Amino acid sequence: MNKPFRIAMLGKQGAGKGTQCSRISEQFQIPHVSTGDMLRSAVKAGTEFGLRASEFMERGDLVPDEVIIGAVVERLSQDDAVNSGYLLDGFPRTLAQAKALDSAIDQAVKLVINLEVATDVVLERLSSRRVCEGCGRTYSVSNPPTSPWHCDTCGGDVVQRADDKPEAISRRLALYDELTSPLIGWYSEKGILVTVEGSGDLDIVTSNIVKAIHSVEA
Ligand code: ADP
Ligand code: ZN
Repeated sequence: MNKPFRIAMLGKQGAGKGTQCSRISEQFQIPHVSTGDMLRSAVKAGTEFGLRASEFMERGDLVPDEVIIGAVVERLSQDDAVNSGYLLDGFPRTLAQAKALDSAIDQAVKLVINLEVATDVVLERLSSRRVCEGCGRTYSVSNPPTSPWHCDTCGGDVVQRADDKPEAISRRLALYDELTSPLIGWYSEKGILVTVEGSGDLDIVTSNIVKAIHSVEA
């Protein structure tokens, strides 16, 4: 692929989108645009956008399309994204969002990576996931920070996200099946979808994503 790189990553909650997107964003120097991170920092900062979003997020519901689409369109219009492209993590998640990405932005996506992981694997990963409130770094019950439970990177508190509690997890996975998984067929018909198996070794998954990016000609 040539610059600007314009990539979106699809995958269930817990598929490892965040980890893989950080790696790819660093390697290719593309802005990592994570709607989950944007929303969580807006909630923390108490902005109006954050206030509108927080009740949906805590229940494990999706934030309404018009709220999230506006925020993403604005983010993608900034200079870094216009020049270098974007690596979208957590967007689009509905057909309306995918259509908005196609039309509202003069920056159509060139490659969609479908990071595929079986449901029993993501259930196990999500229920043991712990996250730093300071910097967002992810740990798990079996891979805790050195000093429990303070982040090795920033010293922040490492906690379980409200939406990683069991009721919210099953709600989020059901919404993925219903609203997000239809995008796989939609992008595949457009000929820009590549599926990468996400359950194996992290480095192997990364190198398969890198191969997919290099396989795009334009
Ligand atoms: P996960 O993929 O693990 O659910 P994220 O960190 O991507 O977590 O998102 C957390 C929450 O933020 C979601 O459960 C949802 O409420 C909201 N959210 C994130 N991205 C979107 C989006 N594209 N559309 C609607 N809501 C979103
Ligand atoms: Zn931290």
